[in-house]
Amino acid sequence: MNARSNSNAVNDVASLIHPYTNLARHPEAGPVVMTRGDGVYVEDEHGRRYIEGMSGLWCASLGFSEKRLVEAATRQLETLPYYHLFNHRSVEPSIELAERLLDIAPAGLGKVLFANSGSEANDQAIKLVWYYNNARGRPEKKKIISRWRGYHGVTIASGSLTGLPANHADFDLPIANILHTDMPSHFHNAKPGESVADFTRRMVDNLEQLILREGPDTIAAFIAEPVCGSGGVIVPPEGYFAGIQAVLRKYDILFIADEVICGFGRTGNMFGCDTYDLKPDIMTMAKALSASYLPISATIVSDDIHEAMMEQSRKHGGFAHGVTYSGHPVCAAVAVETLKIYEDRNIIGHVQEVSTRFLERLHALAERPYIGEARGVGLIGAVELVTDKASRTPFAPALGIGPGIQAKAMENGVIVRALRDVIAFCPPLIIDRQQIDMMFDGVEKALDAMEPSMQAN
Ligand code: PMP
Repeated sequence: MNARSNSNAVNDVASLIHPYTNLARHPEAGPVVMTRGDGVYVEDEHGRRYIEGMSGLWCASLGFSEKRLVEAATRQLETLPYYHLFNHRSVEPSIELAERLLDIAPAGLGKVLFANSGSEANDQAIKLVWYYNNARGRPEKKKIISRWRGYHGVTIASGSLTGLPANHADFDLPIANILHTDMPSHFHNAKPGESVADFTRRMVDNLEQLILREGPDTIAAFIAEPVCGSGGVIVPPEGYFAGIQAVLRKYDILFIADEVICGFGRTGNMFGCDTYDLKPDIMTMAKALSASYLPISATIVSDDIHEAMMEQSRKHGGFAHGVTYSGHPVCAAVAVETLKIYEDRNIIGHVQEVSTRFLERLHALAERPYIGEARGVGLIGAVELVTDKASRTPFAPALGIGPGIQAKAMENGVIVRALRDVIAFCPPLIIDRQQIDMMFDGVEKALDAMEPSMQAN
């Protein structure tokens, strides 16, 4: 071990590899070390307090000081801190969690398989799709279609689904059998003068054309986030998912809904699937499932898929998939308590109530110079910066406009996330109207401060 300094920054730089961080810049930039949380606020080691306008990574739905979750974890740690679900063993919190999830999941979904992260939930969704088509005697029906800009994780398979070039370059991804179609972002992908309706039809047609080019008998599944998060907060246009689902049904292709961000109230309903009337065959979830107090994720499958899994298991004498912490009792106990809190406090009603203010403040930003678009639903939203509103020309990435706004907002005590020049907002679901105003006030000040840099270009 390196000689220890009494500076967190020095020790951090000496020992840690930071995920999703500019590693070359980190030694000089240093870490912001968070040491405590309180409601929607977090506090760093120097006592600076921030409104967490991103719920950490789109996940800390109940903020940072929910005592009921601490007590639920403690109770479980004191009775049975670990056991597993392999080989016909079980634990009570996982049983209760699975039951509760099936109660709230869209109709037709029948069984739950737990894992630890969103990436794993999507990874195992792919495996289950392949397993299913093997069971159904269709070994050639294996390709999965995802969307450019979609985000589904970073494992070898889920990172392949993710449609962001940085997640593929130098990691030798995507793997074979993963295809990408368009993201229905009118702002980014519309032809000049194309109406939203025409654009939406073209997006659906493009999916169908891809299926026909590849051969429908080779396409197993399509995966989408109801609202795309990390790819820039893309809210689907009216009619998009209805069109997509019709195409999927036509060619007998499974639909995987990635609810890792949208699940549990984010879009103003329990699931993004409820907001956009999606009928998935598989749904994946993580993050707000446990309010992110402990890691847990789930892949929920239709009865039909589960039946095929049973058949295959009968043939092979078992189902050879699972992770050590699948349905970890402490994580599951925290997730059960999280779901009870959502119900007891009517979190969805609260989101519907405060989101009117959230969306009002968000859309007001579009009146400012250099904001090309404001988009959002429920308590997730973003604004996108452009040099010129009419041509929607982005700033050169080297100018660091988005990261500059993120840094200035932080100076004003507000954490938002710059995804290049998209400024994303995804506050804890417990945020109140006054805190929403404080969050947007901090961002408006940051935009004011960065205006000279934007004008210069
Ligand atoms: N799917 C979506 C929609 C996500 O937003 C994320 C994480 N941001 C993931 C999957 C991956 O989850 P994890 O980081 O827990 O692996």
